[in-house]
Amino acid sequence: MTIGKHVLVVGAGPAGLITALGLARQGARVTVIDKEDDIVRSPRAMVYLPSTIKALDELGLLEDAKAVAAWGYEYNLRFPLSGNIGRLNYRTIEDLTPYAYNLHFGQDVLAEIILKHFLALPDTEIRWSTEFLGFEQSEDSVQVRIGTAQGEQVLEADWLVGCDGAGSEVRKAMGLEFEGFTWNDVFMATNVIYDFDKHGYAASTMVADPDHWCVIAKISDNFWRIAYGEDASLTEEQRLARIHERFQHFLPDPSEPYELVQANSYRVHQRSASSYRLGRAFLAGDAAHATNPIGGMGFTSGIQDAMTLINCLGGVLNNRLPSDALDWYAYERRRCYLEIANPTAIEFKRRTQEADYTKRIEDEANMFNLMADSEMMRGAMMSVFQLAGRPYQEDWRETVLRQDQAGLTQTAGAHGGVSLQSKTLTKA
Ligand SMILES: Cc1cc2nc3c(=O)[nH]c(=O)nc-3n(C[C@H](O)[C@H](O)[C@H](O)COP(=O)(O)OP(=O)(O)OC[C@H]3O[C@@H](n4cnc5c(N)ncnc54)[C@H](O)[C@@H]3O)c2cc1C
Repeated sequence: MTIGKHVLVVGAGPAGLITALGLARQGARVTVIDKEDDIVRSPRAMVYLPSTIKALDELGLLEDAKAVAAWGYEYNLRFPLSGNIGRLNYRTIEDLTPYAYNLHFGQDVLAEIILKHFLALPDTEIRWSTEFLGFEQSEDSVQVRIGTAQGEQVLEADWLVGCDGAGSEVRKAMGLEFEGFTWNDVFMATNVIYDFDKHGYAASTMVADPDHWCVIAKISDNFWRIAYGEDASLTEEQRLARIHERFQHFLPDPSEPYELVQANSYRVHQRSASSYRLGRAFLAGDAAHATNPIGGMGFTSGIQDAMTLINCLGGVLNNRLPSDALDWYAYERRRCYLEIANPTAIEFKRRTQEADYTKRIEDEANMFNLMADSEMMRGAMMSVFQLAGRPYQEDWRETVLRQDQAGLTQTAGAHGGVSLQSKTLTKA
């Protein structure tokens, strides 16, 4: 085990904390800094797809997660045009993976769980109210400028990992572009107490409607997330004032009482950093790539970035892997975003918001065709594991990269996403 190599992680979100835990477990000295004074508590990601559950298991966090989570076995796509409901049930892939379910709980609770394990390890620390300001790097170290209550300081480390979200200052300091675009719509995330179970709602539900599309997901008993689109020209105050009116379209029985617990809106993007590595600095999670959250591709990809970085950087720290594995990290994670997460999330968004009548009919037919073809349906549900990417191999530049450049990679969408080209089922 490597003792003493110091990794500085910027950002105590899911990507940063998982990276920190995984590297500390391999003997690295790890410091996490975050500009907030505690875990961010606003309503954010809360559905853990099978690939994330597998990652939690590999990290020894699954039992803690199961203890706080609601479980979901079904994903529903509701078509208000016909009243039909498309259903995918994770139990149909139980022979292919032990992770044939979703877990539901807030990412702030995941942060608590990870921190408990992380801070129990030697040479670990988290510094709240500590803002990344900039960095320099030399051949063998990084010097990071931080802002603290005591003023500006410099921290020296061997490696820097930027997990500081879509507005990443680390990415900016690396001088990288955040290529892509920002959607015109604003998304509203609300947490509400209401009994959707009673009305037969699956734990993960999307409603496909051009005006009143929404994503409804269970957080815990009687506690649900409703996410929907809002008019970007309104002020936040106006958007908050309209929640009651908008809920009349989302609640199966609007005459029943509900309690709004939290709400906030946010802009969504489809963007990727032009590179995920610059020398001793890396990007992971939303700092590396941002996507609209319909389908959960951003959070789910960020977890896999962290898992790959743990393996590649941890392998280099412990002399298990050559330093070339760090370039593989940057290459493979960017490919996973560009070829899988990004198109899948765009397709989820289109399908949920589609206004064209013919396409809406087609979408519904496609969903029911998928349900009728059990191997295709199982393949679609298993495709989320592709977000984990491919393992490092030393000859990747001569083999994998060449194949990729020749356009031989297979792209597939997660649970019924973009283009599922193969019925071959692989266990995960
Ligand atoms: C309102 C909202 C709702 C969302 N809902 C969903 C959802 O329903 N489903 C889904 O899959 N995804 C959702 N997302 C996206 C999901 O939350 C992100 O993909 C996920 O949080 C990314 O994790 P991360 O660790 O990369 O970054 P983050 O969770 O954004 O963490 C970044 C951390 O870096 C810190 N930081 C930022 N700048 C600095 C700095 N200069 N110095 C030090 N620290 C800094 C921040 O304080 C923060 O703690 C939502 C996002 C938002 C904003």
